[in-house]
Amino acid sequence: MEKKKIVILGAGESGAGAAVLAKAKGYDVFVSDSGAIKDKYKTIFSENKIAYEEKQHTMEKILQADEVIKSPGIPSKAPVMKKIYEKKIPVSGEIEFASRYTKSKMIGITGTNGKTTTTLLTHHILTKAGLKAGLAGNVGHSLAMMVAQDPRDYYVLELSSFQLDDMKTFKADIAILLNITPDHLDRYPSFENYIDSKFSITRNQTSADAFIYCEDDLVIAENLSQHNISAQPYPFSIKKKTIPGAYLDNNEIIINLKNHQNPTFTMSIHNLSLQGRHNIYNSMAAAVAANILNIRKEVIRDCLSDFRNAEHRLEHFATVHGVDYVNDSKATNVNSTWYALESYHRPVILILGGVDKGNDYSILKDLVCEKVKAIVCLGKDNKKIHKAFKDCVKMIVDVSSADEAVATASGLATKGDVILLSPACASFDLFENYEDRGRQFKRAVKAL
Ligand code: ADP
Repeated sequence: MEKKKIVILGAGESGAGAAVLAKAKGYDVFVSDSGAIKDKYKTIFSENKIAYEEKQHTMEKILQADEVIKSPGIPSKAPVMKKIYEKKIPVSGEIEFASRYTKSKMIGITGTNGKTTTTLLTHHILTKAGLKAGLAGNVGHSLAMMVAQDPRDYYVLELSSFQLDDMKTFKADIAILLNITPDHLDRYPSFENYIDSKFSITRNQTSADAFIYCEDDLVIAENLSQHNISAQPYPFSIKKKTIPGAYLDNNEIIINLKNHQNPTFTMSIHNLSLQGRHNIYNSMAAAVAANILNIRKEVIRDCLSDFRNAEHRLEHFATVHGVDYVNDSKATNVNSTWYALESYHRPVILILGGVDKGNDYSILKDLVCEKVKAIVCLGKDNKKIHKAFKDCVKMIVDVSSADEAVATASGLATKGDVILLSPACASFDLFENYEDRGRQFKRAVKAL
């Protein structure tokens, strides 16, 4: 019998993992990338005898596929996808494909902001509890590669909306939806489509599964009833008492998984390692998941208080002459910048700007007027920022490099101020990516 043909579009981390798994499962595999393929992935392909091409898409070959697995970076409107859809070749994503070959427990985490933080935190708890847990998805490791080469009993998956869009049969045993605010509107026809995409994390869940979500998020609350959700609901809130679920009482996180008086878990927010209101939400979500998995309370408490987050997320990395420097380069939309500003009770010099994905800056207005003494615009086109804040911030300065931003901001700062890089925008006008922006910022500060 002829082998089934799988074509993998995009040879990044997820594509390479999918290729290795598909090959191991006996498919005839062909990888195609319109850009250059990194050497480490080429080596993987050669070692596994996987055919590939780079800097082109040979359509005759691609259209012979029985199934196409596409990278989440390729939009469904991309020209290469058009003919594939026309020919009605089934298309899925790497997570979907990998999930067919594992029966391990899946903890899927999505939301506009906080995914990486919550995913790393949840994985930290599971690992410390002694469970064999893998970390995969949008955090940068391929689920398919792990399933093929190093299978785990649990997978903690960060799922972007693009990854969710490429799933059909995947089921999360525990799904976490952190928040939904406008983002990526360049890739979705409307906000409603983006909302549906986020809610699709509950697709295929049954009453034996759990759905953990933020009750305080108005978009989630308003859209909940429109989605047919079968999983057990575990809302978390810092505004109201939610049982079952998690809530805040006198700065104490209370988790109650059953409808009775005795809480399952309690912990003071003062002992959380991650500060800021957004991180109370992230910590609650991870803690609810861990409690559902019956992890010991001591382990969960220890992990919530010793966790160190990844770089570029409200990362306080230096104090120079009494001025604190914070790298929040990962804040690529207004909502994350809102939470960053909300965390400080001192004058802030805000470094803002870059490529705006349809930002509505009015959301930041109150906090900026209250806390920000100067704005340093680090982007090629800063008109919208000037327009939004010129009435309440006297000093708005344009700069075009991280060095210039740091020099300008530190020149304006006095003891006790915070210089906060929280751009609310993507970075690719002046930088390679948000990591590059964050690192250049830190380097410039260290050179002071
Ligand atoms: P994601 O993976 O969803 O982009 P990250 O954990 O990398 O999320 O955080 C991205 C940005 O959003 C950071 O600036 C961070 O401080 C901020 N953030 C983290 N959690 C939340 C949350 N629950 N709500 C709003 N903003 C958040």
